[in-house]
Formats: sequence, C-alpha cells, structure tokens
Amino acid sequence: WFDQARFIQPDAIFALTAQYIADTSPKKVNLGQGTYRDEHGNPWVLPSVRQSRKLLSQELNHEYLPIVGLADFRKEAAKLALGPELFQKQQDKLATCQSLSGTGALHLAGLLLRACKTPLPKIYIPEPTWSNHHQVFSSLGFQCESFRYYNPETKDLDIDSYYSALKLAEPNSVFIIHACAHNPTGCDPSKEQWRELARLFKERQLFPLFDAAYLGFNSGNVDSDAFAIRLFIEETNLEAGVCLSFAKNMGLYGERVGCFLLATSTEQAAVKTQSMLEILQRSEVSNPPAYGAKVARTILADATLREAWQDDLTTMSSRIRSMRSELYESLVSSGALGSWEHLIRQSGMFGFLGLSPSVVLRLREQYHIYMADNSRISIAGLNKQNVDYVGKSIAECLKQ
Ligand code: PMP
Repeated sequence: WFDQARFIQPDAIFALTAQYIADTSPKKVNLGQGTYRDEHGNPWVLPSVRQSRKLLSQELNHEYLPIVGLADFRKEAAKLALGPELFQKQQDKLATCQSLSGTGALHLAGLLLRACKTPLPKIYIPEPTWSNHHQVFSSLGFQCESFRYYNPETKDLDIDSYYSALKLAEPNSVFIIHACAHNPTGCDPSKEQWRELARLFKERQLFPLFDAAYLGFNSGNVDSDAFAIRLFIEETNLEAGVCLSFAKNMGLYGERVGCFLLATSTEQAAVKTQSMLEILQRSEVSNPPAYGAKVARTILADATLREAWQDDLTTMSSRIRSMRSELYESLVSSGALGSWEHLIRQSGMFGFLGLSPSVVLRLREQYHIYMADNSRISIAGLNKQNVDYVGKSIAECLKQ
C-alpha cells in the first residue's frame, strides 16, 4: 500500500536540534529552537510552575476533562488575553476551547473557519512567518497567500506593504496576526500602526486571527503584549480569533497547554460556535490533556501564584533583553561588518540577524553555532559564557 508514499524532508528546526545534540564540540551553541534557557544554558522550570505542581499534587486525579477542556482554565485564559474588564463585557459573546498548545489552537481555528464559511476564505500569512503557519492551514485545504511583512533592506517592518495587502484582499479573508514578538523578525507594529491596521480590517471586512504565543513573555507585561488583541476587539469592535499558547510564557512546552478564543458579535453566534468547537474537538482528540491545563489554571486563578508568575515573566524577558544588548555590544566591538541596530530594535525571543545562508552554514560547520537557515537566533540560547564567542564568530565569519 505504501510504496507510493512521498518522502517528506524532516522539519528543519527539529532536525537542527537533532544535529546540535549530535555535535560533540564543547563550544557548541544552540540558537535554533525557541525554548527558554537559564543563564547556564539549561531548561528552566518556572518557580511559579513548581509551586502550582506542589499544590496540585494533593488533589490530582487522572480523569478525562470535558471535550472543550477545563472550564476554569478557559475562563482564566480568556481573562488573561482580554483583561478582566473586556472579559466581563465580552464573556457572553465568547466561544472558547482548550487546545493542544498554540499549534492546536490554530488548527481548531482552521477547522472552525472551514466548517462555518463557504466559500472557503483565503488565509493571508505574513512573509516571513513561523514555519508552521502555512502547513497548518494548507493541510486543512485552505489557499494560503503570503504578503510582505518585512523589508530586508531596512531590516524593519514593511508597514506600507501590510496596509496594501489588507486593501487588496477579498472581503471575508482571514489574516494571521502575530499578536506580539513577531516570529522570526522581532518587528511589531507601533500602537499607531495597530490602530490603522484595525481600521483597515474593519473597513475591508477581514477576519483577524491572532497567534498569541508570547503574551507576557515578550515585554514581561501581559497587558502591553495583549494591546493589539484588546484594541481590535474592544475599540474597533471586530470579531476576532485568538490562539493562545502557554508553552513559552509558562515554560510548559511539552505539556501542550493552549486555548482558542473566538470573540463574536452576538450571543447566538457564541453559542453556536461553541457547539461547533465541541464537535470538532471531539472528532480530533476527544478531549484535551489535563495536567498542564491544571497547572496553568492554578497559577492564573491564585493571587500569590500569579505574582510569582509575574516575577518569572520579568526574569525571562529581562534576561533575553540583556542578552540581546550584550550580543549587539559584542558584534560592534568585534567590528562585525555592517550595522546591527536592527538587533536592538527587535523584541521578543528572536533576533533576526540578516546573515546569508552561506554564513549561517559556516557558523554551524566551523564554529558549532546553530541557528535557523534564515539567520533567526533564539536569544534565550545566549548566556554570559557564550555570547561573546557568538559575537566574535559572526564577525570573523563575515570577514571570510
Ligand atoms: N506561533 C508562533 C508564532 C510560535 O512561535 C509558536 C512556537 N514556536 C507557536 C505558534 C506555537 O507553539 P506551541 O504549539 O508549542 O504552543
């Protein structure tokens, strides 16, 4: 039966991690996959998560969750994204479903759009973007279109091209929006630009689908990172989807904790889409995993744990910020060819260096420094021990 199967190349970023693990050099540095590392280069279990796990261990059982997930978790997740006041106003017009992390939330959004909308809307995706966006939506049969988001010459957001993509798109198209900390470029619109974008979404009758994988992890402040989501839903009064992940902001990568939120404009639409999410989830995973959602719910619902989590967000986001500036300093002081201001303009987990594929390859092969082919680096992989080595190696490589 299966002789005819196509061979598909392994996922580039997971393959890069495997290559890094197999490298025996003591100098090796992993700047590939976007996972937080502490100042010694180790995975970090957030202290708030440890406390939550301790509290949970007394009451933990292994029963099934309801099909749409843990009710308190869904409520707390929605409150987190919308803020308590907007949540209060919007809650009867909200459909929510726990998901297999951010990827699962995007997939559920796609399933729901496919089930609700005929003809099938086009999905507009920024270029560049997170490597999985095209796959998630094209695997569901959507036609995906790219629009230019980044200008490699200015090494900055190309806002005019974003505006014109919105103006040219057919009404009832869907746009994937990185809510903050755009992956891979680290370039987000300013508040003024977000306002203009929201206005255009409204005028052109487009559906905003927020991919919110970095709330609180980007700036250390959930409210700032959720600015665009709240602006679109509250001030501009748009219907919107929000795909939440707790992989980065709670370090729950492998627990697959996420939630899909749909802000609709009527209570009936919320009831109907909630019922659809239930049947869509039932036929895919029956019901979502319980443990990570319980860990996250306990943190979000408990004032003391919530404060501890805020401290953890500050720890992670400020370490990343300081490594970003140390790399910048190292590049400049090593005389690395070109200008590096873009690196400190960017925000979030990633640095988008703008190196050619041959430099990226040389860094991997000669210096044991691993980064994505498009020269995106996970800044969290830097620490006091390796940051200068990385800066100097890049400088040397650019001279060759
Ligand atoms: N969207 C973006 C932009 C991401 O960077 C990621 C994680 N790398 C995700 C979604 C989803 O990740 P996960 O499924 O692990 O939550």
